[in-house]
Amino acid sequence: MDDVVFWSAHDRDDAGRLGTRFRVFPQPPFIPGYERPEVVWISSPLGTVGPGPSDHRLYVVDPMVQKAPYDYPYLPPFTGDLRPPVLPGPDGHFDHLEAGTREFASAHVFACVRRVLDICESYLGREIPWFFAPVYDRLEIVPHLHWNNAQSGFGFLEMGEDDSMGEPFPFALNFDAIAHETGHLVLFGMLGLPDVGEPGPDFLAYHETVSDCLALIALLHFDTAADRILRRSRGNLLIENELDYLAELSDEKSVRTASHSLRMSDVGFQLHDRSKPFTGAVFDSLVEIYHLLLVERGVAHLDTRLFSELRHDVSHEELEREVAITAEEYEWRHFAAKSALVDARDMIGEVLMSSWALIDPVGFTLREGAEAFLIAVQSSRARHFADRIHENFAWRELI
Ligand SMILES: [Zn+2]
Repeated sequence: MDDVVFWSAHDRDDAGRLGTRFRVFPQPPFIPGYERPEVVWISSPLGTVGPGPSDHRLYVVDPMVQKAPYDYPYLPPFTGDLRPPVLPGPDGHFDHLEAGTREFASAHVFACVRRVLDICESYLGREIPWFFAPVYDRLEIVPHLHWNNAQSGFGFLEMGEDDSMGEPFPFALNFDAIAHETGHLVLFGMLGLPDVGEPGPDFLAYHETVSDCLALIALLHFDTAADRILRRSRGNLLIENELDYLAELSDEKSVRTASHSLRMSDVGFQLHDRSKPFTGAVFDSLVEIYHLLLVERGVAHLDTRLFSELRHDVSHEELEREVAITAEEYEWRHFAAKSALVDARDMIGEVLMSSWALIDPVGFTLREGAEAFLIAVQSSRARHFADRIHENFAWRELI
């Protein structure tokens, strides 16, 4: 009998193309249901992620001494002494690192940034350039700073510690925070800065909303997150969201940030406040597309097209009746619901990213951002939901 060959050179090439394995916490591990990291494959082919970790677009440095946060004109590269770089396992992957170690956290930030880039580039269909090229060809990641903040900027992304909960918790293990900072880098890469004048408050608020939306879209790429969000609400995302229950129900920070009833007349010029109605409009559109896909596919029955303004026109009692579904009944629909959520997520991701080609940062207003979004809907897979998406932006007083 011939020898059985399990592993040919051809297979090895295929394995290389699959990418490189890391482990990522979709949410901080103290959030119930997210105690264990998930394996993710990043797109860098096996063997191309070196010590650090590092690849052709990003590299991690872990300074030996306490480093001050970068602040112009203090910019990368960091030139002081470094701790030893994190090394891949013998198989070239980084999923051997033990959660709880400094090395794990360093690799975690690298993997999260790469993962968000991979997701955004797959919506766009091409590489997203660094806005700081050609001064730097790679992003420097500093995963551990004694600083109660996280930031990204000209050539860097660095993570301090979240001290809002008593015991400081490293932002290096907080996917939302890393994805949000990566979102800023993605948008700067696509839009750049205004050629003339300082960026206005609406441009900066748009940066915040885009970073929050990208963090949410990236979170929904984790099975754990999609499963938990759907099972907890028994698939009634639309209803829970309209009643503002979804924010209360959700442990996921990106969902809590996006599920609210703030309109432009409710917010001032503080950047984070000012960004919220836009984030709310994008999130409402995502959950309404999700719900209408369920109706189209015969999985749900309440047709929201019958209401001109969902947040006004539907009585709580009417919606509460729709919520009357048991956990057992929901289980029969879970995978159909998840498939609709994935489709809605991708439609919104594609529309948001294609809208940037229509935006001029000079004199930018959030209204222009909303108009660009609505124009991008027209040539997208979401176009037959265009009327509802328009309603959501109009309700938020963005159009
Ligand atoms: Zn931000």
